[in-house]
Amino acid sequence: MMRILVTGGAGFIGSHLIDRLMSAGHEVICLDNYFTGRKHNVAQWYGHPRFELIRHDITDPIRLEVDQIYHLACPASPVHYQYNPIKTAKTSFLGTVNMLGLAKRVKARLLMASTSEVYGDPHVHPQTEDYWGNVNPIGIRSCYDEGKRVAETLCFDYHRQHNLEIRVARIFNTYGPRMLENDGRVVSNFIVQALQGQPLTVYGRGEQTRSFCYVSDLVDGLIRLMNGDHLGPVNLGNPSEYTILQLAELIRDRIDPALPIEFRPLPQDDPQQRRPDISRAQAWLKWQPLVSVQDGLDRTIADFRDRQQAAATLIAD
Ligand code: NAD
Ligand code: UDP
Repeated sequence: MMRILVTGGAGFIGSHLIDRLMSAGHEVICLDNYFTGRKHNVAQWYGHPRFELIRHDITDPIRLEVDQIYHLACPASPVHYQYNPIKTAKTSFLGTVNMLGLAKRVKARLLMASTSEVYGDPHVHPQTEDYWGNVNPIGIRSCYDEGKRVAETLCFDYHRQHNLEIRVARIFNTYGPRMLENDGRVVSNFIVQALQGQPLTVYGRGEQTRSFCYVSDLVDGLIRLMNGDHLGPVNLGNPSEYTILQLAELIRDRIDPALPIEFRPLPQDDPQQRRPDISRAQAWLKWQPLVSVQDGLDRTIADFRDRQQAAATLIAD
């Protein structure tokens, strides 16, 4: 049993990770400022003797005694990370400095949740970890992309300079239950729109691609990376690639095939294609995704439906 800190633990991925760590018998500290996270996501652990919830903003330092740190705190949806871009950059830079400082003081191992966004709008396809990326340093996505890039740099410098045990995961688009209804990312947008009988909003011509990983697979990859021997960076994602138009059709046909698809302007710097090469994760972690996009979407749609019905019942009561 270890004492494990999860920053961003009340968020989408963090809360699923906490479920797994708690079920494995660890002591878990969930730290979050609730910007995009919800207490409700971890409410099932309230009162458990091995669970602790702390409201804290990681741009301020904190002293805790822990063995491992899963460092996930950072808004991940473009809508949310662009809401206050300076704060996003501070969260990635100062927040990671603070968490690395904590790890150094107590000699904890730190896993940092990086992103496929470090590859920017990539010229190499699929993306391998040795590709250095094509990132706009001054665009509207830069607060997130460059924030994550400097966070990776900090991790490797703390490793080289202070011998800190670090792990870096480059996470590709991940989806599943507990994504916020107003998250703004594509899977949740399409599901919410379809369940409300509204048109699905495809940005651009929908020819840009993404590869979608179900959250349980991703969490499994994070835990393997943390407890394995390799520092990374390691791509964690599902290599099955879809155009955004295909994704819209897939979700629409599961909910209401009669719904229209509407085309909206493509946001600035929107990457054209994205698919992980997961050879490294397969070799180093013996990991690959197990949940098909079809199954994952069915589970996610069921969760959004349940939440919608629960909200409707609450209003009716
Ligand atoms: P999320 O927005 O649901 O979770 C982020 C959590 O961090 C939230 O609970 C939020 O309240 C918290 N947070 C944000 N700023 C904070 C701060 N300054 N101090 C304390 N807490 C703060 O997003 P997610 O999808 O669960 O992503 C988790 C991590 O994984 C993020 O670091 C994200 O960059 C990374 N990631 C996610 C994806 C994805 O597709 N979901 C892809 C690549 C990388
Ligand atoms: N997108 C879309 N409609 C939406 C939301 C997003 O067409 O309602 C597109 C977006 O332009 C991007 C892709 O879907 O090309 C994935 O967007 P998301 O915000 O989920 O994540 P990203 O990978 O861009 O960070």
